[in-house]
Amino acid sequence: MDDYDIVIAGAGIAGTLAGIAAAKGGAKTLMLDRNPDVTVGKKTNWGWICGDAVAKTHIDFIKDELGLALTEPYLDLKVDGVYVFSPDLEKKFQFEGAGYSLDRPKLAKKLVQSAVKEGAEYLPLHEVEGPIIEEGKLAGVFGRNEKGEQFRVRGKLVIDCLGVASTIRRKLPKNEYIENMVSTDDIESTGRYIYKFNPEGADERYYDPKNALIHLNQRLAPGGYGWVFPKTGKRINVGLGVEKKSLELRNSKLDKKDSLHQLIDEYVKWNPHIKETVIDEEDGNGKGYWSVTVRRQFDSLVYHNYLGAGDSMAMPNPISAGGIGPAMVSGIIAGQVAAAAVAAKDTSMDFIWKYNVRFNDLYGNKTAGLEAFRVYLQSLNNDLINYGMHHFLTEEEAIDISYGNIPNITIASTFNKVLHGISNIDAFKNLLYVVKKMQKLNKLYKDYPKSIKEFPAWKQVVNAEMHEVKQRFLPNPI
Ligand SMILES: Cc1cc2nc3c(=O)[nH]c(=O)nc-3n(C[C@H](O)[C@H](O)[C@H](O)COP(=O)(O)OP(=O)(O)OC[C@H]3O[C@@H](n4cnc5c(N)ncnc54)[C@H](O)[C@@H]3O)c2cc1C
Repeated sequence: MDDYDIVIAGAGIAGTLAGIAAAKGGAKTLMLDRNPDVTVGKKTNWGWICGDAVAKTHIDFIKDELGLALTEPYLDLKVDGVYVFSPDLEKKFQFEGAGYSLDRPKLAKKLVQSAVKEGAEYLPLHEVEGPIIEEGKLAGVFGRNEKGEQFRVRGKLVIDCLGVASTIRRKLPKNEYIENMVSTDDIESTGRYIYKFNPEGADERYYDPKNALIHLNQRLAPGGYGWVFPKTGKRINVGLGVEKKSLELRNSKLDKKDSLHQLIDEYVKWNPHIKETVIDEEDGNGKGYWSVTVRRQFDSLVYHNYLGAGDSMAMPNPISAGGIGPAMVSGIIAGQVAAAAVAAKDTSMDFIWKYNVRFNDLYGNKTAGLEAFRVYLQSLNNDLINYGMHHFLTEEEAIDISYGNIPNITIASTFNKVLHGISNIDAFKNLLYVVKKMQKLNKLYKDYPKSIKEFPAWKQVVNAEMHEVKQRFLPNPI
């Protein structure tokens, strides 16, 4: 195959946006995806598995950076916000502001067409099997086409947008910048259904046509949460995520053998609003399961001649598992920086390090703190989460945390957070501990290394901080 300036592996959200940005920047760009044209962006045989919710700010970012205004039908429904409910459903905190439920199949087609219009080439039905490595650096990718024939394509830079199970990242030479694998403790197994249904009743704790709802509940969704996100036309996206160890502990304590699939069905039954359901099979996207990482993005997103964007770099938000926003932001910046490197005839790791710095400035600097908070949250059972949401945190403090900011929990205000029982006291002390850790981690990320030279020492400190958090909090769902 021809040589390219930039080879983009994976034409999902991150890949197509990287394609638009790279082509706009004047680079000879190729996007490869294993799917046929008509199902571009489809993650697995099960479909475009996702909760489909994204904050408005990310859609605005696409318009600002690429001049691409997305409207209906790609944005399926506008919602006012996202609310998180305590397990007893008595307390809710707003978690995020306005956003959209996307039509992912339609959006994927729109984005790939936009990239092609900008001049990027697109090859569907090309399965990428791994990177071509020469002298320790990436020189392209190899794989198989629809006929099963091998292909090799060379590029000055490769952008890995293959999603969570990336065949490139897993085959990178062992290095100190990017890990090949994500620990199972940092992965949520998730699944979701898109239903047509007949909304019954008017209890906004279970279904709200104007807001996306998240239910924390360690019995129903150990180590994760359940969600009910509205869509247009009496449809919903309902799903659930669990963490492996939490599920095992919950099952052994309750003497059960529930699987993720059973838990989703149980969650749907638990919801009195979701009745007369029919799976919405449009696009064959009604029901499916997949994994999401819930850690901070990899400490570096670049290697020699390599940039990673979206799920391939573990970018979903550690608390909400929202990965569409960071996939959008990272795809665009990766494409821009790669094109600038080609234009400057300097594709060295020193040059593309700019991508690390820019992503960190725009999005990545809060995620390590959020990872620490997620680990803390998984150590609380339903009673402690209920108690904490009633007494430990005001709505303002909770909003601060959800945005990765540090709430001002003063010693004086702590006396108002009346404590009963030793486990509540411990949980409260732990909250103070984790908020301090978030502060430290946010500070470390504010000082993200501006050059490769500073990276190893910085990374060591980050790892030590996170290790301490993970030693202190173990999953304890029941
Ligand atoms: C059940 C569930 C619910 C979720 N809910 C939300 C939500 O509500 N909001 C939110 O923000 N995020 C959510 N996420 C996360 C979100 O879906 C992802 O973060 C997002 O899709 C990442 O986009 P991406 O482009 O990085 O990767 P992907 O969407 O995974 O795209 C990867 C692309 O690469 C292609 N590909 C993969 N391997 C190969 C290969 N070997 N060769 C060629 N092509 C390949 C795929 O076919 C696909 O087109 C959810 C995830 C799950 C699983």
